[in-house]
Amino acid sequence: MSNTVRVAAPVTLNSIVDGPGMRSVVWFQGCPHACPGCHNPATHAFDGGVVTTIDEIIDEVTKQPWRGVTISGGEPFMQAEALLKLVKGLHALGKTLWIYTGFTIEGLIASVPLAREILTYADTLVDGPYLQECRDPSLAFRGSTNQRLVDLKEFFDSEAI
Ligand code: SF4
Repeated sequence: MSNTVRVAAPVTLNSIVDGPGMRSVVWFQGCPHACPGCHNPATHAFDGGVVTTIDEIIDEVTKQPWRGVTISGGEPFMQAEALLKLVKGLHALGKTLWIYTGFTIEGLIASVPLAREILTYADTLVDGPYLQECRDPSLAFRGSTNQRLVDLKEFFDSEAI
């Protein structure tokens, strides 16, 4: 499992806009989705940002007292091995995890072999590309109406029925 990861920026230690409550945010670098109107185009290049380690990120996050951690980007699932190590480590520390992705959850599970395992360690997936024509500034924690806040426990429970 990879301990190195390419990130766009240092960990944000006190966000209130990337999920409920006060949260730390990890910004993965590299995104293939090219959504027109993306709010964060500097995260697209796969050779951009800086390389760090999952251990360093976990050290940073654990300096904060709050349980909430959000993993965003960029597209976190393009570095799936590193993402798996990160979510395992944070889950073991009792953190509650939100992950943003430009894939739908169905597309993610079909195309990224580690996605299902990664998602078992997280609480909520904010899924889907940003669509300018569906933009709604009144939405909480997402930019366009096609994007969903997927409760992962409910999603996997419904699969088992
Ligand atoms: S998935 Fe996110 S980071 Fe990637 S292009 Fe779309 S809005 Fe930007």
